[in-house]
Amino acid sequence: MSDLQGVLDRIGLTMAERTDRGRVASYIPPLARVDPMQFGMAVALPDGRTLTTGNAATGFSIQSISKVFTLSLALGRLGEGFWSHVGREPSGQAFNSILQLEHEAGLPRNPFINAGAIATTDAAMANHEPKVFLAELLSFVRAAAEDEDIHIDQAVADSEKATGDLNRALAFFMASHDRLSNPVEKVLGTYFHQCAIHMNCRQLARAALAFAGGPGVPNLVSEARRKRINSLMMLCGHYDASGDFAFRVGLPGKSGVGGGILVAAPGRAGIAVWSPGLNAQGNSKLGTEALDMFATLTGWSVFG
Ligand code: GLU
Repeated sequence: MSDLQGVLDRIGLTMAERTDRGRVASYIPPLARVDPMQFGMAVALPDGRTLTTGNAATGFSIQSISKVFTLSLALGRLGEGFWSHVGREPSGQAFNSILQLEHEAGLPRNPFINAGAIATTDAAMANHEPKVFLAELLSFVRAAAEDEDIHIDQAVADSEKATGDLNRALAFFMASHDRLSNPVEKVLGTYFHQCAIHMNCRQLARAALAFAGGPGVPNLVSEARRKRINSLMMLCGHYDASGDFAFRVGLPGKSGVGGGILVAAPGRAGIAVWSPGLNAQGNSKLGTEALDMFATLTGWSVFG
């Protein structure tokens, strides 16, 4: 369908009628307080237009979506050498599981489970101080989104830190296998802050375009890196529901517990959707349904 705005309007109307909206993440107060009635979606096109529906200008915590940005910086810094730090296979276990680390000598399965994301942040930081790396990360995200008005929500970062014992356990376990090159508390402090980046759908869709590529899109993420990152998003981007997301949507995407999903439609568009209620697998319930509908109406699944 070529009338993309028509597609978005239809999705917006359909989602507004939904009564079962899933459950908002409750592990930290700033996320538990978010109103589940919200839904927003944006599609950023290579020609500079960004089409939207619903609450596309309302900011939210991007949480695990940030893992895509740190992966990009880590690959930029280490190239193929990055893969000696983190694997590239789906884990088949909970995103915060420590089991697999024990079986595989502290080498995390992929960059999107928590252990892998912490190892990725460690690699991307090189030996820079957290503040220096976070400034680099923010300027990368702002450049990709073409918007300077993107910040870290300090209250969310503080809450992550206060409740982050399992992430601490993962990091210390990896450190005990000499997998981290920065001090654990510095890596975790950086990780908690990256998860607390606050963006809206419009900004996130434009940032997603950097991973989709397309005619005239600035080459912020090289073609070789896009290929790698998109394949990982397709295989591991939705926790234990990555297979289901590939089956229903057929586009590389990364979700976060804040209810956002970043999607790259290769060569076509960057897409972002947000609705804070989560399904049983921890992905945005309405967001997943909206993307399923979008892929069906546009025929944009990479599987035809
Ligand atoms: N800050 C969360 C954690 O590390 C991120 C959760 C998520 O979005 O998957 O547990």
